[in-house]
Order: sequence, then structure tokens, then C-alpha cells
Amino acid sequence: MSLPNIENLQISKVTKNLLLVHQIKASGIFTRCDGVIKLPEKGVNRHAIIIDLNIEPQYANAIYNSFKPISDYICSHTHLDHAAHVHIWSEKGVSIYAPVPEHTNLLDSYNFLNNFGFLEYIDLETGMSFVNSMGYKSCNEVISFKPGDTLRFDNFELQTISFPGHSLGHVGFYFPSEKILHISCMGFDQTQPGVNGFGPWYGFRDCSIEQTIKDINLAEEFFLKKAIQLTSSHSYVVKNPDRTPFNYMRKKIEENQEKVNSALKTLGHKLTISEKTEALLKLDIFFPKRKIKGAMLKIYAFWESWIIRKHIERSIRKNL
Ligand SMILES: [Zn+2]
Repeated sequence: MSLPNIENLQISKVTKNLLLVHQIKASGIFTRCDGVIKLPEKGVNRHAIIIDLNIEPQYANAIYNSFKPISDYICSHTHLDHAAHVHIWSEKGVSIYAPVPEHTNLLDSYNFLNNFGFLEYIDLETGMSFVNSMGYKSCNEVISFKPGDTLRFDNFELQTISFPGHSLGHVGFYFPSEKILHISCMGFDQTQPGVNGFGPWYGFRDCSIEQTIKDINLAEEFFLKKAIQLTSSHSYVVKNPDRTPFNYMRKKIEENQEKVNSALKTLGHKLTISEKTEALLKLDIFFPKRKIKGAMLKIYAFWESWIIRKHIERSIRKNL
């Protein structure tokens, strides 16, 4: 079939039956991620299946109209850039799948704010205004799966791989018949070769830098052994045996560690971890918070305090 031409969407063929979709411009900062469409295939899957394609409503509608009927939508995890517009698919009667323990975050914005620890730092009103500004609405119904489960839709098999460093339920996807590995939101965010992004994200209580490094190493091994190409939520397509994504992600983490380590040297040794985190937060090491206002300032301070704290804790563990 010829690919539809939809303004502001880049639709590329990864294999004969898999398309990668990218929303080029966005109206907000966490309102989109790239995802995959599994096209219908005789004897395999009767209807199109969508994998983690959270795009703004007008584009989700356009994709729906071009590829309907669509039977299933599988979510990689429930950070807002992967969760805000899943309701669009849900409203159309597409079955929504999401990993435990995050699946309930799609059902209620309070769950989202509470489960990700926002409410320990910000009030409910600020949280709700943030969530609403990204377009979040709840889904009617969500089917949960365990990270690591293999999902089957007719004769189409989709292997989920637990990559919990980024969030507890976060999964990558392997398409065995196509030999494609999708690492979702692990932190390879180069939209083109050489472009510099933020890298792996661990700005939440439940994120882990050490686990993220394990996830990167596991994904690298998996990719080199089993896959012919790699896709992800925020990047270009990479061909085996190119190790760029993994080297990039590990490098970004160590650069962040270096930033925190050098800032720590300017502080007294007697401070607690919380006091050190507070002091470093004022330095705007990661985000230019002086330029951010209102609710978003509180949200960025929340994220950055976790990023800083995790690097401080890691530096303490490494010195032991
Ligand atoms: Zn994420």
C-alpha cells in the first residue's frame, strides 16, 4: 500500500509490514512520541495494531482514518509523552494495553500524579493544570500486561521487554518476525545522527540510574544478537551493528554525573543529601529554571531534584 501523506507527520517504512510514525512539530513539550504501526498481514493480523504512538488528537484521528480498522494499542509506559492522548484511541473502541503497575495511570489523572510522586512535591491543583495542559484525558478501559509478557493478536506476536530503569513498568518491544527492536523511551533521543538531546531520563522517584545502565547493556546485547534495526520513541532508525544509541546513552549519564560531581565539590561535606540536592537545584545545572514560570517551574524543579538526588546517591555508592 502507498503511505498516506499527512501534514506534520513523518511516516516511514521500517520493514514491509512495520511503519514508524513521527509527529514533527508539537504544541506542548510532552505531548508526543514516535510509535509503530503493524500493518494487517494475511494469516497474521487482520487489523492494524498500534504500538506506543502517542500523538496529538488531530494526528491520531488522521492515522485512525488512514489505517482503520485498528484493533489494539499497546503503551510502553505512562509518562505523559506516552499517555496524554491514548484516550483518543480508546474513544474509538481500540483495545488499550498498558504494563503493570502503571496501567491505572491511564484511567485517572489523580493516579498519574500520585503514582509518579508529583503530589509529594506539588499541590493537586498545579499537578492537574500541568496534566490538562498536555491534553491528558482518561481512557475508558485498559488491559494490563506484565513487562516481559509476549502479547498475541491473532497470529501476530509482540514480545515486551522489561526496561524498568526509566519507569517501573517501562517496556521495549521486539517484533520477532520482523527482527525489529523498539527500545521505547530508554533515552536515545537523537532525532538525526549527531544531534544532541537530553539522553536517558530519570527525573522521578522510581527511576534508577544503575538500572538504566543495565537496561542499556541488555538492549545492546539483544539488538546485536537478534535485531536488524532499532527504533525508539524519539530517534531515527539505527541498523545493526551500529552501537551509537548505547554509547550515546551511557555517555549522557556519565556527563550528567560529572556535572553533579563538580558542583558537589563547591559544597561543604557536612550537608545531608537533601541539603545538597537543594543547593544544586539552585544552580540550574540541568534546566534553565530562571526562564521558566508558574506551574512548569514547580514541575521542572520536581524533576531536576530527582535527577540531582539520584546522581548524588550514585556518587556516594561509587565511593564506598
Ligand atoms: Zn518516559
